[in-house]
Amino acid sequence: MWKMPLRLLGWVWASPWTAVGLAAGTAGLVTGGRVQKRGAAIEFHGGAVPWLISRWPCGPFTMAMTLGHVVLGRDAVCLHVTRAHELVHIRQYERWGPLFIPAYLLCSALIWARGGDAYRDNPFEREAYAIAP
Ligand SMILES: [Zn+2]
Repeated sequence: MWKMPLRLLGWVWASPWTAVGLAAGTAGLVTGGRVQKRGAAIEFHGGAVPWLISRWPCGPFTMAMTLGHVVLGRDAVCLHVTRAHELVHIRQYERWGPLFIPAYLLCSALIWARGGDAYRDNPFEREAYAIAP
């Protein structure tokens, strides 16, 4: 009974970052990219999307990235390979909403300042890799 309202709240709470992802995905679509819906994810690939991903700090090594309920992938294969991992990040956005990116970056900065791996040691990534390596 509560699942639907909670799911709706998750979409609303994550919507600021979903809007950013939709803007990036739209840039991909108007440059020849594709969109597909898979579970809770709106996935974009192709067109300008790989170029946009490569501008991300870990861009050259990134196959896909999640912004709210939007997953941006280099291509359909990258989206398929990373789908379970990115779904964990979607759930994290549903819990953290607009605070997700600031919290993620703060964790990475603190970990980096202590000499750790800002990506692999980040608790958001540790949770995602524990569920979907
Ligand atoms: Zn991740």
